[in-house]
Amino acid sequence: MTETLFTKIINRELPSDVVYEDEHCIAIKDIAPKAPTHLLVIPKKAIPRLVDASDEDKALLGHVMLAVGEIARQAGVEDAFRVIVNNGADVGQTVFHLHLHILAGKTFSEAQLGF
Ligand code: AMP
Repeated sequence: MTETLFTKIINRELPSDVVYEDEHCIAIKDIAPKAPTHLLVIPKKAIPRLVDASDEDKALLGHVMLAVGEIARQAGVEDAFRVIVNNGADVGQTVFHLHLHILAGKTFSEAQLGF
């Protein structure tokens, strides 16, 4: 599998601001934050898009969702944060290695699905 930008970050071949790491995922600060708190939770397995995940990734996806809660708690935003997954270039996915955005610290209108 081709190394993605995030694989390089996971392998410390590129610098990043790591806020959380466990056996299966890592969380870093987004380099171009769209909110006062903008973190990326990245499974270490390089699944290109959410739609590319399969049955064998069930436990991993559950693990990542639980990690999101822990990371939000550690960041002190557990009472108000938004999680976004962009699936496909047409909705703004630019890095084809599955990741969840955690956004917090600003008010999101109900209609505003993006960031
Ligand atoms: P997406 O558009 O959903 O694929 O999200 C990719 C995100 O990765 C964007 O919000 C970028 O700002 C962020 N990003 C790109 N390069 C880096 C990097 N080197 N370190 C941290 N975040 C990055």
